[in-house]
Amino acid sequence: MPKLSNTLDHYEVWFLTGSQNLYGEETLRQVAEQSQEIARALDASGDIPVKIVWRPVLKDSESIRRAALEANASDNVIGLIAWMHTFSPAKMWIAGLDALTKPLLHLHTQANVELPWADIDFDFMNLNQAAHGDREFGYIQTRLGVSRKTVVGHVSNPAVTSSIGTWTRAAAGWAASRSMKLARFGDNMRYVAVTEGDKTEAELRFGVQVNTWGVNELAEAVHAASAGNIDALVVEYEDIYDVAPELRKGGERHESLRYGAAIEVGLRSFLEEGGFGAFTTSFEDLGALRQLPGLAVQRLMAQGYGFGAEGDWKTAILVRIANVMGTGLPGGASLMEDYTYDLVPGNELILGAHMLEVSPSLTTARPSLEIHPLGIGGKEDPVRLVFNADPGPAVVVAMSDMRDRFRLVANVVDVVEPTAALPKLPVGRAVWRPQPDFATSAAAWLTAGAAHHTVMSTAVGIDVFQDFAEIARTELLVIDKTTTQREFAREVRWNQAYYRLAQGL
Ligand code: MN
Repeated sequence: MPKLSNTLDHYEVWFLTGSQNLYGEETLRQVAEQSQEIARALDASGDIPVKIVWRPVLKDSESIRRAALEANASDNVIGLIAWMHTFSPAKMWIAGLDALTKPLLHLHTQANVELPWADIDFDFMNLNQAAHGDREFGYIQTRLGVSRKTVVGHVSNPAVTSSIGTWTRAAAGWAASRSMKLARFGDNMRYVAVTEGDKTEAELRFGVQVNTWGVNELAEAVHAASAGNIDALVVEYEDIYDVAPELRKGGERHESLRYGAAIEVGLRSFLEEGGFGAFTTSFEDLGALRQLPGLAVQRLMAQGYGFGAEGDWKTAILVRIANVMGTGLPGGASLMEDYTYDLVPGNELILGAHMLEVSPSLTTARPSLEIHPLGIGGKEDPVRLVFNADPGPAVVVAMSDMRDRFRLVANVVDVVEPTAALPKLPVGRAVWRPQPDFATSAAAWLTAGAAHHTVMSTAVGIDVFQDFAEIARTELLVIDKTTTQREFAREVRWNQAYYRLAQGL
């Protein structure tokens, strides 16, 4: 069964150019050539991680509708870029845009950078009229309520390719979401509110299939792990981590490490056989498992899986999407939980961690592999990776079920070095400073009803999540350096009305 892909180059974005038959053969030949040049430039850009595929120039309603239907039907096609080099009367686009189910980016560009002032004649004007052709296209998209991203500028401008690259990452996240299968082992933590949610609605809105398996099915897979597979993982652990002496071969607790490896073997085989991209566990429901999965979960997250603890499937979806969107970039994505604060005035910091399950993709340092008691769950001591997340820019994003819709809340943050060493804290962790400041960020977060579990992404930033939310037509409240408490509270209130109206009855 499929392993998770660690590239995005199997995905395609089609480049559509709009025109009409009025122009005659010679002009349409130039439209085709110049649009191919633009598509080639985008395809060659290092900012854009997917294939950009040029499609023949569209000149009438039927071919536009066909292009949309073909894009809809192709699993490899994750979105369309459209550009009106000439004037493409936009009623021709109604049927196609109405049928389109894939993400759309409107690229408002032109073939040339500088105007050829001395040579310009009316043939040039006839060919290079995106300035008004794209306005016609903008009108029909807005009139039809088409969700899209609009990018403006010449393709030689790095801001343009960067913005398109951002959107292609969001579109890849959306494609992963639409095809995601998520395995829950056990239910949500008892009595917890914010990790609950409507799984049927999640499948409709995000395409994710969220289903539950008895944890003992996982335990069977774990206990069926072969000695050879366990041996191989133990060798790998000793190679890439600082393994505590008591866990090493010959150490008195080596069996616990081998059991941790068995969990990894069993969990991975279960996920691969079922074609799952994300999963959850519950410390309240471990069945025959002897340890709460820690090390295995950490490593699987770093390999691209989504994960949520305590049955939190909504965060597991976000971790998987963030992993896909960040493919190939430095940094990573992890389950994170706001745990405790350093409230030194003027230098307030948030210490985030979890019981065990923080992804080592957040560090470039060599984690240590340790064993410590876990006071919760009533099982044997679990093995886990311990490290500090690298300092640098990051974003934390949470998903809440507001009953009538899902709400995403994101905070732009800066991960910092811990103020001092944390020699007694036996888990992976991140210390960060939230934007715009601690009090505003926390007040906004609480006002939004945002969750205590998040995905922390250090690979992609807020711009990718904004594009994702637009594609997913899902509310996203952003807390960043421009946020004020008063404006934020108003946005929350206005959104209540907007999203209800936008969904209709
Ligand atoms: Mn938790």
